[in-house]
Amino acid sequence: RVKKSGGGYGFFRAVHDRRTPEETEVLAALHKAVEEKELFLQYQPIVRSSDQVVVSHEALLRWTRPDGVAMPAAFIPVAESSGLIVPIGRWVLEEATRAVQLGLLDKVAVNVSAKEFAHPSFVRNVEETLARVGLDPARLTLEIKEGSLLDLVRAPEVLGALRSLGLQLALDDFGMGLTSLTVLSALPLDVVKLDRSFIARVGDGSEAGGRAIRLVRSVVQLAGSLGFRTVAEGVETRLQAQLLKNAGCTHLQGYLFGRPGALGDVLPGESKLVSA
Ligand code: C2E
Ligand code: CA
Ligand code: CA
Ligand code: CA
Repeated sequence: RVKKSGGGYGFFRAVHDRRTPEETEVLAALHKAVEEKELFLQYQPIVRSSDQVVVSHEALLRWTRPDGVAMPAAFIPVAESSGLIVPIGRWVLEEATRAVQLGLLDKVAVNVSAKEFAHPSFVRNVEETLARVGLDPARLTLEIKEGSLLDLVRAPEVLGALRSLGLQLALDDFGMGLTSLTVLSALPLDVVKLDRSFIARVGDGSEAGGRAIRLVRSVVQLAGSLGFRTVAEGVETRLQAQLLKNAGCTHLQGYLFGRPGALGDVLPGESKLVSA
């Protein structure tokens, strides 16, 4: 057994020590970023598959750094492990709901990390933000990752409390984890988002692609029978859009319909195809 000096802080030290010097640096800079407003949101359209009309936008977090714009993969993990994601998430929710309230977006979907979802005051904060901003809750969707639900015994209760606020709930990254269909059927959800890794093979002409679309079709049918809408993420080609529509996906999202962009580029009603 390794003896730790310094009494009761061994656990925290051990957690902290697992951070690489780079992560420690990112974390320090991220603290400053929150204070100095270096974070901003981009918005990516979600379209209805029947007519490709934009019905909502997903807010995606970005960070202005001296050497360019940092993507979530570079800083969300350390924000999550440090707990800094909680104040960041509050800022994201406030910013995104204000954009809707100001008339810059029709509806918005906001990502929620497992840490935020498990936080004891999460539901209250969402409620207070909606009230403060004065937003009709029906115009907000919270995207919660499949993995966040498995970690939390009171997940169904938290989902129920959120839904009774009148907002919409999406299960994000479906297909990545091991949510059983029984669990899925018991959750109070509105939307199931099929993970991009699922969609990537669709329409590539391979045998795996054929299996992928059959899998999508059965998930979509099941979700539909439970009353859930389905969003396919990461749609990049017209062929994928056609196959996913035929498979019954009610909504589509991906570079084919628009990359994440600034608010000025995503005014309501605007639906333009952006070539990759
Ligand atoms: P996600 O929620 O699964 O978001 C979709 C990701 O796929 C986004 O990456 C988006 O830019 C990207 N994407 C969309 N369409 C396409 C496509 O057609 N092709 C490809 N290759 N990619 C596409 P991004 O913006 O880098 O975000 C990555 C992840 O970071 C998100 O995955 C989400 O889990 C997390 N994230 C982003 N913003 C927030 C936030 O405000 N709060 C929290 N907690 N997490 C966030
Ligand atoms: Ca998402
Ligand atoms: Ca995803
Ligand atoms: Ca993802």
